[in-house]
Amino acid sequence: MVTSDQGSLTSPTELRCITCGYDLRSLPIEQSCPECGTPIELSLRGDLLSRSDPAWVARLARGQSLLVLGVRFCLICMVCAFVIPFLGVVGGLVFAFGFGIGINIPSWVFDVAFWSFGGALFIGVVVTSLGCALVTTQDPRDSLRESSTSNRNVARKALFAMYACIPASGVVWLLPFVRTSHQIYGGIFLLSVGTCFAVVLVASLGWLAVLAARIPDHDLRSRTMKSARFFRWAVPVLILTALIPPMLSATPPAAGGALIRPGVLSSVTGCVFLVVAAGILIGSFRMYKDLRTYHTAFHRCATEANTANSEPPLTD
Ligand SMILES: [Zn+2]
Repeated sequence: MVTSDQGSLTSPTELRCITCGYDLRSLPIEQSCPECGTPIELSLRGDLLSRSDPAWVARLARGQSLLVLGVRFCLICMVCAFVIPFLGVVGGLVFAFGFGIGINIPSWVFDVAFWSFGGALFIGVVVTSLGCALVTTQDPRDSLRESSTSNRNVARKALFAMYACIPASGVVWLLPFVRTSHQIYGGIFLLSVGTCFAVVLVASLGWLAVLAARIPDHDLRSRTMKSARFFRWAVPVLILTALIPPMLSATPPAAGGALIRPGVLSSVTGCVFLVVAAGILIGSFRMYKDLRTYHTAFHRCATEANTANSEPPLTD
């Protein structure tokens, strides 16, 4: 803060307006932002969320509510995907050996289970995506200076790209060489959606870690960065191990015999897939717990930001 004949001036180094991002350096503190009229004093209170634009922090809180709800839904689906087939096998064995009768489940039961599971997971993913879109909205303070490769920007672009894969897959289906193999088509779709998903997940966690420092909660920040580092390798490994078996069955066997027999390779990738999937499930539960901590913190900061900005500006 510099004092002049006109009164106190803001610092000669960069100071951004919390509402519009206008550079407020060397302006009289008692004035308002020349761009949007927000009292300059409100932008001098640091970059804590509780001292940021109340409308933006409220949007973060709303987004985090959706994010928690969507991730909870997806986790329930993921647990069911693990537990239900297991219970089915155990139940079948109990009936066959314990009662000496085999049970014959009609095929429509599997169809209903598959489509209701798929539908539930899709709803979970859509709610999570809406939450993610709200949580990654730009802090108005950064509107004139943010890099296009910031975690927040990358997360939003990858989210858009993930949904763009759906119409794009329809276009790819029209290509003649794709239609010869369902496995290759499915592989391309899984690879593109999976890559976008991995980028959304890791970049969003990176952005949340930035917000954690502004809560401020440094333990939460380091836990979030640890989750991001884990998912950064685990999700690509899961996608690759899911892709290898269908690709092997889609390619004709080599004339001279392959170096590794496809059956062996499929079993190995299948085991790696299960181990990594279980790891991701555990990691997701940890992440969910942290997402709930963000949820509580964002709602608290939103209330504080509202109160702080309605207080009369400090005057010398
Ligand atoms: Zn402004």
